[in-house]
Amino acid sequence: MWIVWSLLAGFLISLAYISPYALRMFQERRLRARCRRERALVLTYDDGPGIVLTLKLLDLLAAYNAKATFFLVGKCVINAPESVARLQRDGHELASHSYAHLNAWKTTPWQGVNDVQRGFTTLGQNGIPFKLFRPPYGKITLLTWLATVCRGIGFGWWTKVSGDTYANLPDPQSVVQAVEQDGGGVVLLHDFDGTEERSTFVLELTKRLLDAAKSRGWKVCTQSELLRIQ
Ligand SMILES: [Zn+2]
Repeated sequence: MWIVWSLLAGFLISLAYISPYALRMFQERRLRARCRRERALVLTYDDGPGIVLTLKLLDLLAAYNAKATFFLVGKCVINAPESVARLQRDGHELASHSYAHLNAWKTTPWQGVNDVQRGFTTLGQNGIPFKLFRPPYGKITLLTWLATVCRGIGFGWWTKVSGDTYANLPDPQSVVQAVEQDGGGVVLLHDFDGTEERSTFVLELTKRLLDAAKSRGWKVCTQSELLRIQ
């Protein structure tokens, strides 16, 4: 009898956790191919908006006339209304990154789905239209996947981690070179207010990536533009 229960448990775990993960891998591979084919660079910033770094980033992006995608955490939206207003005024893409940034694999299934839905609701209540959701830590379950697709929202995966949250920050040029070798990409950065060293790294890497895109003739666009989501 225990064999039946083991098989059933294995099936449910596969359905709830492994199949969404396989879907992510598939979508990320397609995303990487699309960036290379279209010679595109998409700058994405998670876990904000911050109050100081976000505004500095917006000045930098404006100097390059570049648009980026910001994956907003619901509770940060409430705390940083001026940053939200400026993001909207400057015409960047705003998207959801949940409400409280819970890892869907490390919380109960219902808390995970509640965090996703509350993030959507918070953006709606603050007058922020959005088309994409980026799961915190890239973790989705069957329930959070369903909560997203049933609302007609797409997933905003990435192809390159910048390393801007690592304890030992990488050399920004090594990140640029990796993106150049890929022929473009969707780069994951963060715009929450952290240490001065981290903020400097984010600004420097953003600048170097935009310079690389310019010299290589890549287009710089938002993630929805890349995915042609209307
Ligand atoms: Zn995040």
